[in-house]
Amino acid sequence: MPYTNADLLESLREKIPTFRCIVGCHDCCGPVTASSEEVARLPVKSDEEHERALTDLTCPYLGSSGCEVYAERPLICRLFGTSPRLPCPNGMRPVYMVDDTTEQAVHRFLGSTRQVLL
Ligand code: SF4
Ligand code: SF4
Repeated sequence: MPYTNADLLESLREKIPTFRCIVGCHDCCGPVTASSEEVARLPVKSDEEHERALTDLTCPYLGSSGCEVYAERPLICRLFGTSPRLPCPNGMRPVYMVDDTTEQAVHRFLGSTRQVLL
């Protein structure tokens, strides 16, 4: 069975450490791009919702209670705060930061796929 982008996505997701954020914080949510593979997993937003989010410099999936698509949030959202190159502005982090091999693999994956603005 061939190793697909979906397999790679799942494998990268598993390798990025998770951590507890400050309750109610979404300071790092803004306009982000993700691979078309990841965007295809998200519920469709209208053009108006996309435009409003871009005007407000936020993400169309950010709701009043936080990320509405947390289980399917893109790799770049998962990577944020887990690498010294993408530090949380509020000092939150996992016990063990992401390893370099995984971080590079994430960027390789993102660089090899069509990027779409959320
Ligand atoms: S990573 Fe930091 S800035 Fe982003 S939501 Fe968590 S606590 Fe807030
Ligand atoms: S997808 Fe979720 S975590 Fe990522 S920027 Fe949007 S609201 Fe924030």
